[in-house]
Amino acid sequence: MAKVCHYLPDYHIAPLIFHASPTFSSLPKVHIITYLSASIVRLTKKTMYRLVIYLLCFPFALSAQTAWDSVTIKTKPVNERISYLEGRGGNIGVLHGPEGIMLIDDQYAQLSEKIKAALTTLSSSPLRFIVNTHYHGDHTGGNENLSSDGAVIVAHHNVRQRLSTPFYSTMWERDVEAVPAANWPVITFSDNITFFLNGEEVQATYLKNAHTDGDALVYFKTSNILHAGDAFVRYGYPFIDVSAGGTIDGFIAAQEKILSIADQNTQIIPGHGQLSGIADVQELLKMLRETRDIVARLKASGQTLDEALSANPLAAYHARWSGSFINSDLFVRLIWQTIP
Ligand SMILES: [Zn+2]
Repeated sequence: MAKVCHYLPDYHIAPLIFHASPTFSSLPKVHIITYLSASIVRLTKKTMYRLVIYLLCFPFALSAQTAWDSVTIKTKPVNERISYLEGRGGNIGVLHGPEGIMLIDDQYAQLSEKIKAALTTLSSSPLRFIVNTHYHGDHTGGNENLSSDGAVIVAHHNVRQRLSTPFYSTMWERDVEAVPAANWPVITFSDNITFFLNGEEVQATYLKNAHTDGDALVYFKTSNILHAGDAFVRYGYPFIDVSAGGTIDGFIAAQEKILSIADQNTQIIPGHGQLSGIADVQELLKMLRETRDIVARLKASGQTLDEALSANPLAAYHARWSGSFINSDLFVRLIWQTIP
């Protein structure tokens, strides 16, 4: 079963689609075309986003192995004991040293062997802990493979809940299936948990209803390095996984939480994108507050969502923030759904 859309490797939509619909990747091409034709007949503005994603994904799903083979895991040192790995999916934080290795997220199962190889260049110590910043498959897909030698998977309660329990995605209008039990966190926390490893104090802190309902910031306090998961990303407008408890107000609160922890010297590893600092978080927070207020005013005025969209309310933000994953219209929709 393909769990990923290779055209959108760093995004969360793909795991939602393919976890939810394993038949898609195995359908003969003619059936896919039939499905898409039927979808076009029923096409509405709301379904347009899903259709675009399907169209982008399917050709690559058909050449899945080639796509995985082409992925290179790049190791980016942040200091002498903390690095992050780029491949496909979310950035992987790595704390390494004589007492063992801790990972923050683990990308896709198809990349686990390459990730293991990258880790051996950093340390010969065993992998001991895997912290999941949230449930999305581009951050948790390697859980089973990478924990099979005894590493302990740790996450907020809701990550285990999401991975272990099917739920219905209103955004994609389909069920998101549970993943096998070997992928589930075996230690969970509610507000925070602290690790002490290799001389580093590592604090994982829950962010309520931000990107999802199970997000955690992971702060390497001793080194002043923070892994933000997808509560802070660099691909433009952030994705708010509304069906999994994400909200705009929680996303705003997450930036405020990051800024309450970080200072001018903090190095921030985003869920996706390059190493960042607090100025980048401040810029995202400013945009989130402003766009939230714009959409809230439109909704409070009594307009329908379509009326609000027709006025292109985020035009001033489009050039800087709109991307191939979350464009301005979709971001309006995500905000709209999570405000009163
Ligand atoms: Zn995510």
